[in-house]
Amino acid sequence: MPGDRKATHAIVGPGVTVGCAALIVVLALGIHRADAVGPGYASAMPIGGLAVLWFLVRGARVLSPETVVLAAAVFVGDLVLGSEPALAAVMSLAVVVQTLLTVVLLRRWCPGLWGCGGDRPLDRPRVLARFGAALVLGMAVGAALATLGWVSVTGEHVQLGGVLWFGRTLCSSLLVVTLGLLVGERLTSARPRPPLLSGARWYELVAAIAFTLGMYVLAFWFEQLPLAFPLLAATVWFGLRFSTLLSAAHSMVTGVVTLGLTMADIGPFAATEREDLGYLLAGFYVATLVVTGLGISTGRDEREALAAELRRTQEEAEYQASVRQAVIGSMNEGLFVLDDSGEVLLHNPAAAEIFGLSEDDLTREVLASRSDRWADGTPMPPEERPSVRALLGEVVRDVEILVSADGVPDRVMSVSAMPLPRDAARRRARALVLFRDATAEHARREELAAFAGVVAHDLRNPLAAIDGWTEMIADELDAGALDAQLAREFVSRVRSSSRRMRELIRDLLAHATSRARDLDVSRVDVTTLVREIAAARHAEKQVTCEPVPPVLADPVLIRQVLDNLVGNALKYVAPGTEPRIVVRGCAHPPGFVTILVVDNGIGIPEGEEEQIFDEFHRAHYRDYEGSGLGLSIVRRIVTRHDGTVTARRNPDGPGSTFEVVLPAYDG
Ligand code: ADP
Repeated sequence: MPGDRKATHAIVGPGVTVGCAALIVVLALGIHRADAVGPGYASAMPIGGLAVLWFLVRGARVLSPETVVLAAAVFVGDLVLGSEPALAAVMSLAVVVQTLLTVVLLRRWCPGLWGCGGDRPLDRPRVLARFGAALVLGMAVGAALATLGWVSVTGEHVQLGGVLWFGRTLCSSLLVVTLGLLVGERLTSARPRPPLLSGARWYELVAAIAFTLGMYVLAFWFEQLPLAFPLLAATVWFGLRFSTLLSAAHSMVTGVVTLGLTMADIGPFAATEREDLGYLLAGFYVATLVVTGLGISTGRDEREALAAELRRTQEEAEYQASVRQAVIGSMNEGLFVLDDSGEVLLHNPAAAEIFGLSEDDLTREVLASRSDRWADGTPMPPEERPSVRALLGEVVRDVEILVSADGVPDRVMSVSAMPLPRDAARRRARALVLFRDATAEHARREELAAFAGVVAHDLRNPLAAIDGWTEMIADELDAGALDAQLAREFVSRVRSSSRRMRELIRDLLAHATSRARDLDVSRVDVTTLVREIAAARHAEKQVTCEPVPPVLADPVLIRQVLDNLVGNALKYVAPGTEPRIVVRGCAHPPGFVTILVVDNGIGIPEGEEEQIFDEFHRAHYRDYEGSGLGLSIVRRIVTRHDGTVTARRNPDGPGSTFEVVLPAYDG
């Protein structure tokens, strides 16, 4: 049989096979002793369910020792009940086929059920329906086979014989298999499950049992009256209020009691003329009880499971929402969710801060007006806007735009945007837009690009000059026309070019280290430092240093500051003019020292007093060599010391004055 491939692992050991086989024989013996029913059909009554349960929990296959043992046990049981060997063999065959078919159908139709290949209890009406269908079909086939066998062996025709078999086996299998699987699942599975009482209290259980007893006394005491129907009320009570297991146990007990009392000739079912018909009615009645109880309780189980799942999903959703809120709230990036109607559906505090807006002012129009330029300041066409592109379904990554906000300089933002699932109810496209402050990153990149440009340009020029002069030396040598005077001239030009290259490389290095080096502050004697710098430049005569109060600074970096300022003052003088530089200082403002470097040079062109501190900005690039980096290094170092540096033209005469304010040393 194809379903046999679904045979599951044995849940219990082989001992159960021996136990069940023995039980079948013992039951037959008991029934025979009690002289309750005749041979043949009777054996089917208790074993219908027992055999199915046995095969399920043993995980038995169609062709297995269990099949042989079952066949033998039923055969012996029937002999015990007084059947002829031929009849016993036919009955044994009917029981085996009935059992195997039922088991295969159960494994195929209820694969999730404990004992049938899964691990779930019988807790869904749909599974109950399939479960019932498998039992009905299996037992019906068994009944048909048994009837055919009986008639062909004995030649007699028993009225309603097949129906009797069917009723008894269905009743027993509903009781035994249902309860067996429920108890087995409860004992073995570690899955969390609802409590046995399922929300009801123990005194309600006592009351329900008392009610059941009362109903039974009523139904079985007043035999003449057809009072079986109140018994259903107890079944409904158990189905509604207690777990499926308790409900099934209740059906099992009431079913056994009903059958027992009927066999003992007590109660409404015993009142029928034909004894076996009474048993049949009792059997169907018990089957009705079981199915009703299980139907109610599995329906309730399913409802409770769905409600629990709903609660769990709700809790999970609330938890997810709170996590999302916390994550979004703590992000440094500004986050917006927009829809194509222009509504801002969601934003975080960082987003409001980036645009310098309050919650109410955050409309898409305002956002658009404050972020409508590319990073270089040129206007951005509306269709290029990241939010617009994302609303049309495009994923946009790291587009740099300029964002303006009240009271702060414009900032470069790296914007990413992506489409979100559509709002189906409002038929709106939605998009998520993220703003990351990339001002520093952008500036660094610009700086790097400028750096690369200057390095390429300023290093290439002297290199080209060196190339040219050395080529000329070679040509002159080849022509034999190189006299000493000419050679000296060429070599001096080569050396001057290489010196320019060296200075540029030095400035580039200084520029890089002025940012990277950690500050190591101590007392710095500015007067001595200036004198040392002048001496190193062989300019003691040109540089005068008046006493300057000591400052608290990094000596290495401050030397670089003063060296740059003194070097510039010596460099930027008109041809033929003797440089005169005076350095002086005073303890002002409080806690700081102001150092002035005054020269008599060519002065700073008007309006460029601030620009000369920009990287690579050169006010006199035609007549004087330089990299344009010195003053930017000076400003960076001074700023790192929490100081300031400014430049101005001398008001009454030529030259300029550089003013450096640094923290005073007060030790
Ligand atoms: P570099 O001297 O290498 O060109 P700096 O950054 O030191 O670069 O100076 C930037 C510009 O500022 C110079 O090119 C020059 O035009 C101007 N400058 C600097 N110091 C003086 C000064 N003492 N007098 C006049 N102009 C100056």
